[in-house]
Amino acid sequence: MNNNLRKIGIILIVVVVVPALLFVSFELTSLNSNEKVIEKIYESQLDAILFSVNQYSQDFMDSWASKIESIINGENKAENVGVFLQNDRAIEAIYVIDSNTLKFTDLYRQNNLTKDFTFLDTLLSTHSDLITRLFNYKESGYRKIEPVFADSSVAILFFAFQSINLTNRLCVVAINPGVFIQKKLGPRIKIISGDEFLISVVSSTASFTFDDIQSNISNQMHVKKALWLLPGYELGISLRGETIDSLVKQRAFINLLLIIILVLVLFVGVYIVFRNVKKEIEIARIKSDFVANVSHELRTPLSMISMFSETLEMGRVSSEEKRQEYYKIISQETSRLGRIVNSILNFSKIEAGKREYHFVDSFLNDIVENVYSSYKTHLEQNEFKTEFVKDEIIPVQKLDEEAVSEAVMNLLDNAIKYSSDKKYIILRTGLEKNHSFLEVKDSGIGISKENQDKIFDKFFRIGTGSVHNVKGTGLGLSIVKHIVESHNGKVEIESTPDKGSSFRLKFPLNKIEG
Ligand code: ADP
Repeated sequence: MNNNLRKIGIILIVVVVVPALLFVSFELTSLNSNEKVIEKIYESQLDAILFSVNQYSQDFMDSWASKIESIINGENKAENVGVFLQNDRAIEAIYVIDSNTLKFTDLYRQNNLTKDFTFLDTLLSTHSDLITRLFNYKESGYRKIEPVFADSSVAILFFAFQSINLTNRLCVVAINPGVFIQKKLGPRIKIISGDEFLISVVSSTASFTFDDIQSNISNQMHVKKALWLLPGYELGISLRGETIDSLVKQRAFINLLLIIILVLVLFVGVYIVFRNVKKEIEIARIKSDFVANVSHELRTPLSMISMFSETLEMGRVSSEEKRQEYYKIISQETSRLGRIVNSILNFSKIEAGKREYHFVDSFLNDIVENVYSSYKTHLEQNEFKTEFVKDEIIPVQKLDEEAVSEAVMNLLDNAIKYSSDKKYIILRTGLEKNHSFLEVKDSGIGISKENQDKIFDKFFRIGTGSVHNVKGTGLGLSIVKHIVESHNGKVEIESTPDKGSSFRLKFPLNKIEG
């Protein structure tokens, strides 16, 4: 790995990966405490709901107390109390006691009530302190309703008030807990519960649920609170369907999942950034290699040309044969130079999107034949055995002759450059379904599978082994690919390292009209 890349890798790890891992490990360790916090929040929400039920029953009792106070202090009280009791079956009896004499001044009961309230005397004497406190409250303007007793059949509440003649009165209200819970609290609890909660009221002897589907879930109540007005009775609440525990676990699971997704996205992001940077660095390296390669490529023919032309100019060559040989070298090197410059110019045209092709009716065989014959001597001089196997029945087709020639030359140049000891090149043309093809096959060094896709990339050169010593710009095959694709054709390659390579250019045939 090159130094810059290693530096960028380390920066990415320090800036992104390490903080991400720290964050994730912190999140994972705090997941458990988060669960507890969430559970607490849920519980306090449930607490608040139960508080509102208690508050509601308190308000209810308050409004009763106000009504009772105004009936007792009003006219026709016997009649009005009768109506009041008839309307509110939850109240079983109302007793009014004079605080000075401790005598009952009024006694009202539901008609057919058989219950015996003799225990009231004991309640009054055991709660004398409370009664004094209630009057004190009353004097300071606050009417406090105090529950003093409740069992399964009756609940007793005290509150203090003033009669019309300003004497202190204690009101004792006996209510039926079952009727109060079901008829008074029930509808309200149903509204509060909605679809989300299950609220129930339980005592040691009875339990009340307000669900249409009767379920005995009172034991699984998540939060329990005393019902203020009925000592010994408890309000309970739980979530319908799910327990808080499972809800909290579900949240924790979702959080965990999100963290995992976040980490994955982050790692994919870092990987993409790293890959792109790597690519950019690779391109920068390739470009600088390219400049070096091109300079080298240009320098060799130039020095040859200048050396031989100078020799000729000085008249140092005596034999005509030698002179002819030097002229040939100069001409060969000039055309090599021309090809290099051309391929760079063509490449820059392709890059700028300005390369134009002129398709005219042409015979592929003729184009290949021309190139082959111009290369023949060069090939022979370099001890290459060559063959041109042509399929005579390739029809005329629309081709840019110059461009196709350039492609064939590039392939031949490569076949020459990348052949080692086995110097054997076959050129072949042929027909397949709806296209013609031209193949250049060598028995050279071959190309590994891994590099077969890359060699068509601009500037790419295999930089290892024997290829390293061969000169080139890395543009040839990218130009070949562009030329073939501009003809709507395809390039195929078959190659085995150390055995040789074969490049096949496929050109579509003209559509037969009619
Ligand atoms: P250049 O030959 O100028 O380096 P090309 O684009 O023509 O550039 O080729 C790209 C690379 O593909 C070459 O550097 C070489 O490694 C590999 N290559 C091309 N043709 C052959 C071949 N016939 N045999 C082996 N390797 C080849």
